[in-house]
Order: sequence, then structure tokens, then C-alpha cells
Amino acid sequence: MTTTTPGGTPSRKAVLFCPECDHQSPPGGDWAVSRQDGDRTTLECPDCGYTLVSQPRFCLLA
Ligand SMILES: [Zn+2]
Repeated sequence: MTTTTPGGTPSRKAVLFCPECDHQSPPGGDWAVSRQDGDRTTLECPDCGYTLVSQPRFCLLA
């Protein structure tokens, strides 16, 4: 197996996956973001409405 990446893709960004429908988008993508108390932030899948809760250490401000 030899896999080459044409064009030299920049370093892979973190991508969040929806466990319900496999929707994937980076933080700050098309997730509906709701800020909770404290450090917690929830991300709602735009496809199926599944709610993911981000890690407290996870930084959404890019
Ligand atoms: Zn989803």
C-alpha cells in the first residue's frame, strides 16, 4: 500500500464526527454551537440534530 498525497495537503485539522449520521466538520464549521456554563460547549449536528459536547479544554476560538 502506497498512499501519496498530491499537492501536499497541509497538516490535517481536527475534525469532529457525528456518531449518529457520520456528518463531519471541523470545529467552527457548520455545527450549531451553544455555549454552556463554564467551559462547556455543545455542538449540534446540522444534519440530524445530535448534540455533541466538546471537551472543556477544547478551544473553539480559532
Ligand atoms: Zn448527525
